[in-house]
Order: sequence, then structure tokens, then C-alpha cells
Amino acid sequence: MDRTDLDVLVVGAGVSGLTTAVLLAEEGLRVGIWTAEQPQATTSVAAGALWGPYLVEHVDRVAVWSGQTLAVLRELALLPETGVRIVSGIEASRTPVEPPDWGRQLDGFRICVPAELPAGFRVGWRFTVPLVDMPTYLSYLEKRLVSAGGFIEIRRIAALREATAMAPVVVNCAGIGAYELVPDSNLTPIRGQLVVVENPGITEFFSEDTGDSPELVHFYPHIDTVVLGGSAQYGVWSREPDPAIAAGIIARCAAIEPRLRDARVIDHRVGLRPACPRPRVETEVLDGTRVISNYGHGGAGVTLSWGCARDVAAAVRAG
Ligand SMILES: Cc1cc2nc3c(=O)[nH]c(=O)nc-3n(C[C@H](O)[C@H](O)[C@H](O)COP(=O)(O)OP(=O)(O)OC[C@H]3O[C@@H](n4cnc5c(N)ncnc54)[C@H](O)[C@@H]3O)c2cc1C
Repeated sequence: MDRTDLDVLVVGAGVSGLTTAVLLAEEGLRVGIWTAEQPQATTSVAAGALWGPYLVEHVDRVAVWSGQTLAVLRELALLPETGVRIVSGIEASRTPVEPPDWGRQLDGFRICVPAELPAGFRVGWRFTVPLVDMPTYLSYLEKRLVSAGGFIEIRRIAALREATAMAPVVVNCAGIGAYELVPDSNLTPIRGQLVVVENPGITEFFSEDTGDSPELVHFYPHIDTVVLGGSAQYGVWSREPDPAIAAGIIARCAAIEPRLRDARVIDHRVGLRPACPRPRVETEVLDGTRVISNYGHGGAGVTLSWGCARDVAAAVRAG
């Protein structure tokens, strides 16, 4: 493809940028991505990633976007190469809380009997849900984009004007990078850290409703590995793994599932959730070019990805 002849230039190759680019390229548009980092170095690769509208305000479109994405992920779970699987497990709380609204959308959602809950927990619910192995999933999306004629170029931009010079439509999927790029001071990073261990035989996920605590507790079994979490530090920009946080994560998860105590550690992942009062999916005109924003998905970027990409595609078509 002649790169000067693009219909749409997407900025960012995390889950938002890749999903949007795939959808547009498969609709027949000439699409390219500029990204500061490889997909495998983005916040998106650090996600757990369980479907669920977490650390995102439950406003207007969030329920629609997450429902649309749930349907797509269920379809993708039929294809092993996507890294998406349907898993069963429990979310529980040590204090009495109401079951989440989004539970109604999930297969087999039911309140747990006390015997199903770990010691010290008061309430919980069991459900089956898509779980996404992000390194595999991002590679899958990248291949799908290339098959549809799109491309990815490693290129950091200092201003959106660099992109608007290249295509009649620019989609800004810069995640927390939009803080400087737009600039958008409504964005705040919520730093998250995970520990990846060898799977000692765990097949079900567990997630604690920890409210506003920065110390999360969850483990997600992928086939050979388990992703343990986590943390949620508001306003923290560091992307370096912190050994003390990692030790705390392992201790908290092992207190629920003792087989995790001595599981071999394979990797540490850190990402910056792009938190915003609400995800920003809207169009403006800059230098005569339409710029469509698609960022600010907080702790739910995977969960909202296909729904938001659909709204972007509709905005592109609206002209
Ligand atoms: C520990 C952790 C666990 C999580 N778990 C889940 C989960 O279970 N489920 C879920 O749905 N979500 C989860 N999330 C949230 C999810 O990871 C994010 O919401 C999502 O990754 C945001 O994706 P994005 O594509 O918008 O941004 P990113 O993945 O951050 O991608 C941004 C892209 O923009 C590019 N970019 C930025 N600035 C520039 C620039 N100036 N020039 C060019 N390119 C630029 C970057 O290089 C990158 O390619 C989790 C997050 C963390 C940190």
C-alpha cells in the first residue's frame, strides 16, 4: 500500500488501536497504525485479561460497549489461535456487597453458597467469562490487520498534527499517551502490576472485590501460566516492576490458593491504565482533518475494545 494514500491513520497499537484498525481495514478502508511501541510493549499486553467493566465509570455507553465486546470475545473463544478462552470462577468479597449489574450478561451467573468461598469471605458469585491471553491476542489482531491490508509502523509523534498531515481521518488510540499528545489533563494513570507464574494446575479464576484498595487480589489461569494480580496506584507513572509489590501479590494470592506460593515466576508485567471521567470516543476537526478519539478506557480497555471500535467505524462512515 502507498502510505501516502491512506483513508485512516490510527495512532496506537494497544488493544484499542489494533481492534479499531482491524475493523476499519476489514471494512475495506486503507488503514495504517503509527505507534511509539510494539504492541507487545504496550499497557494492553500487561492486562490480565478478564472481561469485566473494572476501573471505568459505568456511564452511558460502557454497558453497550462491554456487551458488544462480550459477544465478539465469545466468538473468538471458538478459535484457539486467538488466545481467548471461556473460563469459570468466582468473584468474592470479605464485606457484604451487592452482585454487579454486569453479572446478568454472563452465562451461569449465580450467587455462591458459603462452602464455595475461601475463609473470611462473606459473599461471592460464580460465572463463566472470556479470559484473554494478551500476548497471543495482540499477535492475533496484528496478523488480522496485516491480512486485511493494514500496516504498523513504529513512530512516536509529538503532536497530532504530524498524523493529520498523513490521512483524512486520524483515530487517536494513544491510551495514557493522550495525556501529553492531545494534551488531555482529564487522564490519570492507574499503575497496575502483575506476576506471571507457571501454572501449578489451576483451572478456575478467582477475583476479590477489594473496593478502592490499591492492593488487588486475583488469579487468572491461562493454559501454561497463571497471571496473579494486582495493584491499582492512582497517579503513578513508573513502568518498572516493583519487587515489594510483586511479593505482596504472590502472598495475597497464595493465601487464597496455596499452590501459588511456590509456583515458578516467569514474568512481571506493568501497565498504566488510562483512567478518565469517561472513555473518550468522539470526533473533532483539527486542521481540516477529522480526529476521532478512542482512549481513556481505564481498567477495561479489553472489555470495551470491540464496542468502541464499532462506534469509531460508524463515525468514520458518517463522514
Ligand atoms: C495490570 C493491568 C491489568 C488489567 N486487566 C484488565 C482486564 O482484566 N480486563 C480489561 O478489560 N482491561 C484490563 N486492563 C486495562 C487495559 O489494559 C487498558 O484499558 C487497555 O490496555 C488500554 O488499551 P489502549 O490500546 O487504549 O492503550 P495502550 O495499550 O496503552 O496503547 C497505547 C498505544 O498508543 C501508543 N502511543 C502513545 N503515545 C504515542 C505517541 N505520542 N505517538 C505514537 N504512539 C503513541 C503506544 O505506543 C501504544 O501503542 C488492565 C490494565 C493493567 C495495567
